[in-house]
Amino acid sequence: MSPPNKTAYLSKSLYIRGLQCHKSLYLDRHQPELRCEATPELEALWASGHEVGVYAHMLFPGGVVVPFDGLTKNEQMAKTREEIDRGTKVIYEAAFSHDDVFVKADIVVRNRGFWDLYEVKSSTSVKEHYWDDVAIQYYVLSGCGIPVNKAYLVHINNSYVRAGDIVPEELFVVQDITGVVREKQASIPDKLAEMRAMLREDVPKIDIGPHCEEPYECDFMPFCWQHVPEDSVFSLRGKGIDRWELYRQGVIRLEDVPLDSLNLAQRMQVEYSLDRKSHADPKKIRKFLEKVVSPVCFLDFETFASAIPLFDGTRAYQQVPFQYSLHRIDAEGEEPKHFEYLAQPGPDPRKEIAEKLLGEIPLGACVLVYNMAFEKRVLRELGESLPGLRKRLNAVAEGMIDLMEPFKRRDIYHWRMNGSYSLKSVLPVLVPEMTYDGLEISDGAMASEAYFTMGEISDPAELVRLRKALLEYCRQDTLGLSRLLEKMRSI
Ligand code: SF4
Repeated sequence: MSPPNKTAYLSKSLYIRGLQCHKSLYLDRHQPELRCEATPELEALWASGHEVGVYAHMLFPGGVVVPFDGLTKNEQMAKTREEIDRGTKVIYEAAFSHDDVFVKADIVVRNRGFWDLYEVKSSTSVKEHYWDDVAIQYYVLSGCGIPVNKAYLVHINNSYVRAGDIVPEELFVVQDITGVVREKQASIPDKLAEMRAMLREDVPKIDIGPHCEEPYECDFMPFCWQHVPEDSVFSLRGKGIDRWELYRQGVIRLEDVPLDSLNLAQRMQVEYSLDRKSHADPKKIRKFLEKVVSPVCFLDFETFASAIPLFDGTRAYQQVPFQYSLHRIDAEGEEPKHFEYLAQPGPDPRKEIAEKLLGEIPLGACVLVYNMAFEKRVLRELGESLPGLRKRLNAVAEGMIDLMEPFKRRDIYHWRMNGSYSLKSVLPVLVPEMTYDGLEISDGAMASEAYFTMGEISDPAELVRLRKALLEYCRQDTLGLSRLLEKMRSI
């Protein structure tokens, strides 16, 4: 194993970046300061990937870890070589370098004089771009003289339901991708040579395109997309239109989009945006509101979805509620009363959350939510795990009304909603005082991240701060729903 040559050096992740877009690799190497910060979703994904990796090690117990932290790359490679020479059967995070490419292999397993290579992913299926990830590892290992017999992808089995300790053999699906990985070997040297030649030149002239978001969202988008205005062809909602084809034809601004290429909703988005128009259909709104009778509850759950099921009876990535906010109006004209729940991180919160919620929602109440499919699913899954409460939880779900409906149908539409009917688009337009600006937590991903952080820290002041931020955010959603209803009633 040769030490990396600094100028030509690439890692597995840089190679994958280069496959997606040469410019991205170039900027990463020469102007990394242009990269945007990782989103909370991405950070959560990294953390989850690490945890999944640790569980995947249990598929091949008794191995030796070659840690990344605390060792230089050369030290990691030396340690890997040491373990191989010593006859170690399983190595986790093994480090190799060949042709100035450095890779860390999640798991390598000795198998009758050969080695099997395992790449662990926290996704629930195999995606084609993973093949390149494994192919470059296979290339480097083979170049180092490691005889690789099989290459596998290990991913999460989302039909596995936890019952007691995690059973790694059931949690994971192991898929043999040796054939496709071998097919890719011949093209790798040319691809590496192209990337290295490109890195020696000026920044490549590559325009934005679908490659900016596929297979990964590029972290240079804020830099490369500067010429794209907010009301661009990419802000058009809905299907049936090739935004990239329009862009290639020079159509960037919404106002330049040919209207005859759009469906009705898209045309409305463009026309309303150009004329700064809004619209409300009082008859349709009244008809919708006829269904809303007291007592009225406004409900919003916050959930987390972990790759490793944390509690018995849950699956990977199941949305487990840890918080809710409920505003309740017992009779028309009354001010809403507020109820809320935020679980202590750690123990299974489902029973407590369900019991408290059922104690606060009167029988037969009209439960208003925004995007009903999500809340219904949370209630149904709560009911599946709590048979004694199932009937009542299902009754709450049955009594739900989706406040999103009139916005989805465009019974009410304002050009500033920009074609979207999400609560984050609708609320600031119709109830401007209900802004999410200034809130420390402003979306569901940040909320679940904050909840997990609460489980990892012990500083009381920090815990109080996060708890307050979570409660404020969730409360904002249901208070917003109650204000939205008021607004609709006034139309
Ligand atoms: S934003 Fe698009 S064009 Fe720019 S570097 Fe990333 S992938 Fe390439």
